[in-house]
Amino acid sequence: MKEKIGTLYIVATPIGNLEDITLRAIRILKEVDLIAAEDTRHSLKLLNHLEISKPLISYHRHNEEVKSDILIHKLQEGNNIALISDAGTPGICDPGEEIIKKCIENGINIVPIPGACAMINSLICSGINTKEFTFLGFLPLNKKLRKNKLEEIEKTNKTIIIYEAPHKLEATLQDLKQILNIERKIVLAREITKIHEEFIRGNIDYLIENKENIKGEIVIIIEGKANDEEENELNKLSLEEHYNYYERQGFSKKEIIKKIAKDRNVNKNEIYIKFI
Ligand code: SAM
Repeated sequence: MKEKIGTLYIVATPIGNLEDITLRAIRILKEVDLIAAEDTRHSLKLLNHLEISKPLISYHRHNEEVKSDILIHKLQEGNNIALISDAGTPGICDPGEEIIKKCIENGINIVPIPGACAMINSLICSGINTKEFTFLGFLPLNKKLRKNKLEEIEKTNKTIIIYEAPHKLEATLQDLKQILNIERKIVLAREITKIHEEFIRGNIDYLIENKENIKGEIVIIIEGKANDEEENELNKLSLEEHYNYYERQGFSKKEIIKKIAKDRNVNKNEIYIKFI
């Protein structure tokens, strides 16, 4: 028996393009004693591609509870384990939470090995505010829970990120149409890192009109609701105070001028000449 207790590595794998795996992730996968995978057959393709041969154990949504106990036991015996999911970062709409909670309860070290994640990579290319956002995962199918989530989307001033399966996209867009102001921008990030990678930008009506050819894996990014109350308050400030308010939030000069012009409903050149 090994003397030291093992470590659980949470290893991110590619979300499409096989090159999107870090050198550290490859090294860890090569060094661990065991790899726990959401779907062992699926992960074998990646492991074969990386020429890694390791004992695999399945760890998926339907066996998380039982398999967590087995994995804890193996970690306590001193085995180092890497947890991977079918794509991206484990624990993000993928199995992981259960084993991580049990590791914490049992004083087992957990180490993240960062890498691809669909929501972050969709958000950063969306052109929508990245400063504050809420990730909702998949919208619930249960009617009441779904209604609550849609209400949350309608009210929030933060950017919203949702995961969606292609065959449910139409229903989700129709639900969003019921609650979203036409002004709110939406981006569909489709098949990112793959051959057909695409960012489709528009408002809800545009996306519904153009939904026919939208296939593959999708992330939906929705602009937060404009905060009218905040705007009213801002308009009571002097121009300089208004500028400082946005500067403190990290916006560039160009962005600030655009924002002030929008808040005050004036042409941006009018604001621009005051700040040259
Ligand atoms: N753990 C993954 C991650 O780190 O993003 C997410 C897994 S979740 C089961 C699968 C969902 O993630 C898909 O339905 C889609 O919404 C999103 N997704 C995964 N890969 C994607 C890609 N290449 N392009 C767009 N969306 C993707």
